[in-house]
Amino acid sequence: MEDCTVDSVTKPAVAVSACLLGERCTWRGGDNALPAETLARLREACAIVPVCPEVQGGLLTPRQPSEIMGGRVVSKAGEDVTAQFEAGAAVALVEAQAAGCRFALLKEKSPSCGFGRIYDGTFSGVLVQGNGVAARLFADAGIEVFGESRVGELLERRGE
Ligand code: SF4
Repeated sequence: MEDCTVDSVTKPAVAVSACLLGERCTWRGGDNALPAETLARLREACAIVPVCPEVQGGLLTPRQPSEIMGGRVVSKAGEDVTAQFEAGAAVALVEAQAAGCRFALLKEKSPSCGFGRIYDGTFSGVLVQGNGVAARLFADAGIEVFGESRVGELLERRGE
């Protein structure tokens, strides 16, 4: 994605969900921007590699919300968007790996970026154990995934 601040010679590269950086790329067309102070600390400490697997997979903004059920990603309108989610996750991973990311800070509960807990596929706000498509791909590739509630932990760990 654009606005990539790769300064990984001096700072560790971290893939970050673009919506957490303030990019208006969520399904609603909004963002999930982290507090300004947190963003400033992140930018100071890390070479940020923005990723938005849903947009990178060709989905439009705004778009229908999607959730995972039975191993498929399906929009609220009933469209199977698994292929777009998987394609976008693959693009995001290539960009993260090209930048040398060992860590990722990804938006919690998202069917792409969520790690550990995601919605159950019924669009009723129920969370279950599971990973978003991109978060799972990142983790399988050896990139340590943090949700935004663990950003402090990431900032402590990044120097390893
Ligand atoms: S795919 Fe990830 S980065 Fe893009 S809007 Fe959803 S949670 Fe944010």
